[in-house]
Amino acid sequence: MKLEIVKIGNPLLRKKTRALSRSQLKLKKLQTFLKGMTRAMRHAQGVGLAANQIGLSMRAFVMECRGNRRYPRVDSFPLQAYLNPKIVRYSKAKEGGWEGCLSIPGFRGKVSRSKQVTLAAITSDGRRIQKTFRGFEARVVQHEVDHLNGFFYMDRMDSLKTWTHLEEFNQRFKYEVKDKK
Ligand SMILES: [Zn+2]
Repeated sequence: MKLEIVKIGNPLLRKKTRALSRSQLKLKKLQTFLKGMTRAMRHAQGVGLAANQIGLSMRAFVMECRGNRRYPRVDSFPLQAYLNPKIVRYSKAKEGGWEGCLSIPGFRGKVSRSKQVTLAAITSDGRRIQKTFRGFEARVVQHEVDHLNGFFYMDRMDSLKTWTHLEEFNQRFKYEVKDKK
C-alpha cells in the first residue's frame, strides 16, 4: 500500500480527528495503516506523521528520528506509534526550535513549545501508557498531536516573521546550535 501525504489546504488537516473505538483498535487493518504511515514518513524523511496527513480521520501518529538528514542537529529517538493520544501535561518552561511539516513542503518556522510533555495514549500493541518526553522528541509529540486536533505549526508561531523557505533555511540556519535550555 502506497500512501500519499496530503498537503495544507486539504480540509482533513483542519478537522479534529475521530478517536479509534475499542473494536477499531483491534483491527488488523490498523496495523497495516501504521506500517504504511511509517513507510511514508521514512520515505519523505520526516520525523513524525499523523493519520490525517495520509487522509484518514483517525487519532494515530507515528514518530522516529535516526540520523535524519532533514534534522541534522537533534537527538535521535526510536520508532513509536500512538493511538488516541492526548497530552495531559505541558511544562511551563518553553524553548524555541525550528519545525517543518511534510504537509507544507519547503518551509520552516521557529516555534516555541513546552520543553516537556506527558502523553497518555495506547501503543500499537494495545497497552495504555503515560510517557514523558523532553526536548526535540517532546516537540515532535506536540506537533503531531496538534495535527490530530486540526492545527499546523504556524498556528503556534509567536510571529510569522521567522517563517523561512527551505533554501534560505539550509543556507542560514540548518546547523544553528539549539536555543539554550
Ligand atoms: Zn506536520
